[in-house]
Amino acid sequence: MSAVDSDLIAAVSTGAGRGGVGVVRLSGDGAQSVAQALGANKLVPHRAHHRTLHHKGELIDAGLVLLFPDGRSFTGQETVEFQIHGSPVALQLLLAACCELGARVARPGEFTERAFLNGNMDLAQAEAVIDLIEAGSVGAARGAARSLQGEFSRRVQQLVDNLEHLRVLVEACIDFPEEDVELMQTHQIRLQTDQLRSAADSLLTQTRSGQRLNEGIRVAFAGLPNVGKSSLLNRLTGEDVAIVTDVPGTTRDSLTADIEIKGVPVRLVDTAGIRHTDDQVEQLGIKRSITQVDQADVVVYVVDGSDWTQAQAAEQLAKRYGQTRKLVEALAEQVPDVGTEESLGAKGSSEPTELIVVNKADLWQNTFSLPHALEAKKIIPVSALQGTGIDLFKAALGEGLQQEALEAPFTARARHVEALTNAMGCFDAAIVALDSQQPVEFVAEELRSAGLELGLIIGTSSPDELLGKIFSEFCIGK
Ligand code: GDP
Repeated sequence: MSAVDSDLIAAVSTGAGRGGVGVVRLSGDGAQSVAQALGANKLVPHRAHHRTLHHKGELIDAGLVLLFPDGRSFTGQETVEFQIHGSPVALQLLLAACCELGARVARPGEFTERAFLNGNMDLAQAEAVIDLIEAGSVGAARGAARSLQGEFSRRVQQLVDNLEHLRVLVEACIDFPEEDVELMQTHQIRLQTDQLRSAADSLLTQTRSGQRLNEGIRVAFAGLPNVGKSSLLNRLTGEDVAIVTDVPGTTRDSLTADIEIKGVPVRLVDTAGIRHTDDQVEQLGIKRSITQVDQADVVVYVVDGSDWTQAQAAEQLAKRYGQTRKLVEALAEQVPDVGTEESLGAKGSSEPTELIVVNKADLWQNTFSLPHALEAKKIIPVSALQGTGIDLFKAALGEGLQQEALEAPFTARARHVEALTNAMGCFDAAIVALDSQQPVEFVAEELRSAGLELGLIIGTSSPDELLGKIFSEFCIGK
């Protein structure tokens, strides 16, 4: 892990643009002396002082100044925060003055990086700082705040502690291989590995929900071209995100738009209509559609109700509810060059929620009805053009989503899911080694690897490249 720099850094910590109040943060060796040079003297730690700030005889502004001493600040280093008027010019003048007095402009995320390196928070908490700042919904913000409080890290740490305990037992087995002791201990090791595996498994489930809460639940629109998928996406976002034309095959790439339903962030994904085509670009788009459907948490299968065959197909589909992905797969089979690796389910994602939307109700509603399916609420009739049925559709989407939000006690990221999945793989391998009576050294090695994977989450075994990547995502001043 990198040594912690303590040279003096400064940045405007509030967002760009004008505001009532703006904050310049100064952290590192000599922060208090720079504040003094600007006119902020006699600062009592953790007290707000009203001071007038000058540099080279020129007035900058007056505002509140706070001193956080070494060891009792966000970064863990001596820090001064100036709260002045939120004028971008005044804030830049103050920042420039700090730099002339010996500070340098902080890199993105450098304050939080120092907080992490000084042990004020672990890596998952530092990531939660960005996730909270960037949260696009109430649910995501609350989840990120809980991660920042250490809700997720505590659970990972619990696993790490139990794993350490188990490793001591395994090491003892290696060091003192008397047979009767070994037999008893092997039994104990098997039991504890099993317990660890199931604890990791339930944490993985929560972490997956946390990732969805953070990144948005993926809702993919699938179906034939021209059924109104793009129109539906535009209707839900209230904007012209996707191009709508009556020329089939216009959506060639997958388009995404983020919205919020019942406080849950939702990522809508418009996919290319799946049909037979010789156009190579369209074929590529179709391949992507299939991947998108495979990765989706909710698949919305859209049909054009004004087309009798499609409407019939929708009713058939509703009878076989839960088969939407199969239908997309059947459509995909008609498309040349879509290899088997693209077929659904290849990535082993969990079964998505499925909704069937019969669009263009303005054209078909008076001609025929879909009574059985409608009664069972399996099919949602809408008109993307006129906006009818959209509330019903949103409510149907929201039903499943609310559950997701409740199930996620914290936010998490894809890399956390990956590390936990890898740790689970190590526990499985350890169990296999134990059951097949392989030398206990193999078990020890798997448990060591599991420990490294868990350490990646909280940052105890994270390489510098990973840290660099994570902190570079921050904006300056955080
Ligand atoms: P996509 O290819 O499935 O994304 O379909 P589009 O959203 O591009 O729509 C295809 C055509 O159907 C366009 O001409 C739309 O204006 C039209 N369309 C979409 N939704 C409706 C609807 O609810 N009613 C009617 N009458 N036309 C619609």
